[in-house]
Amino acid sequence: MQVPLLDLKQQYQTLKKELDEAVIKVAESQYFILGPEVESMEKDFCSYLDVKHSLGVSSGTDALLLALMAAGIKQDDEVIVPTYSFFATAGVVSRLNAKPVLTDIDPVTMNIDPDDIEKRITERTKAIIPVHLYGQSADMEKIISIARKYNLIVIEDAAQAIGTQYKDGRMVGTIGDIGCFSFFPSKNLGCFGDGGLVTTNDEKLWDNLYIMRVHGAKPKYFHKVIGGNFRLDALQAAVLKVKLPHLDGWSDKRRKNAELYTKLFIEHGLAEEEGKTGFDEKNPVLLPKAVYKANSEKVKNYHIYNQYIIRIRRRDELKDFLASMKIGTEIYYPVPFHQQECFADLGYKTGDFPVSEQVAASSLALPIYPELTNAQIEYVVQSIGKFMKGN
Ligand SMILES: *Cc1c(COP(=O)(O)O)cnc(C)c1O
Repeated sequence: MQVPLLDLKQQYQTLKKELDEAVIKVAESQYFILGPEVESMEKDFCSYLDVKHSLGVSSGTDALLLALMAAGIKQDDEVIVPTYSFFATAGVVSRLNAKPVLTDIDPVTMNIDPDDIEKRITERTKAIIPVHLYGQSADMEKIISIARKYNLIVIEDAAQAIGTQYKDGRMVGTIGDIGCFSFFPSKNLGCFGDGGLVTTNDEKLWDNLYIMRVHGAKPKYFHKVIGGNFRLDALQAAVLKVKLPHLDGWSDKRRKNAELYTKLFIEHGLAEEEGKTGFDEKNPVLLPKAVYKANSEKVKNYHIYNQYIIRIRRRDELKDFLASMKIGTEIYYPVPFHQQECFADLGYKTGDFPVSEQVAASSLALPIYPELTNAQIEYVVQSIGKFMKGN
């Protein structure tokens, strides 16, 4: 049996007719950048996310960069980010010559540890970027209350979490001041190339986002501020319009797959329950946990499992073993920001963020895409059991 980490062809086959028609329609219009397709897509996302404004942009990274620019982040400002995330979360801060100030993560959710934020705030701190990592919301209540106390802007990195609800039912990316999303093809909602979205309920920020997407021009060729080219292609918008109505169905399937993994890991004696944070005899595999599950009945998409991350001691060996069994896995993320060469000048050292370091050394993403069969999931868990028992 083969179990790839992701198989986008299966999803394409189920929507082929609609997607092909949408692509051809753009070709026939010869209207390629922004324009009516993008505007219509933005409307769809406003109503799906229940947010006042949304803006199609060129990628998730550009969504974050544009958000920081619109928020006025400049040289020597400080922006608080978790040390454990995809590179872009911190990279965009440095690109504006501002300083990423790092925090550790919560060992259960792997999201920013809100208790590690306040002590890192200085007079220069301007913003916090919580990441809704792997498809589960960060602890927004605590983060927003700290932000209000110190007058900081909250920019949500929801690149892995479109469709995720917070415990009160609101969509992530609409809770802070600006939300940033990615439609990179391997995300839970992907387009046919690079694409992203920024969202806000704030009129002033919206104004900045809107004009900075096109070099800060308003009207065209008259530049009040400096922006960039953060435009989205009409083709990507057309693809996203076809896919968006299917997103909640895919999230359901991802969640069902995650539930099956958990059940099987427990049945195979590889774990006792979800959300354990320390290895022992009865828990050689640490399972992810959706922490908001129990809190509210109206919240269905409490976790959309953009990734399903287990933790394991001999991670690299297991990865190789699973590859030999034709099972695709990935390591998100092997090196936290404070240990990255390019951030050496931030002055952190190994040991500064122990939880992130432990997670980075032991995390492994298993296949979780919606079209997986139960038999494939069973095969993955069986193979991990085999590895544990010494092959
Ligand atoms: C994917 C991702 C991004 C960047 O998105 P791109 O569309 O690839 O530029 C930013 N943050 C996180 C957490 C991501 O996973």
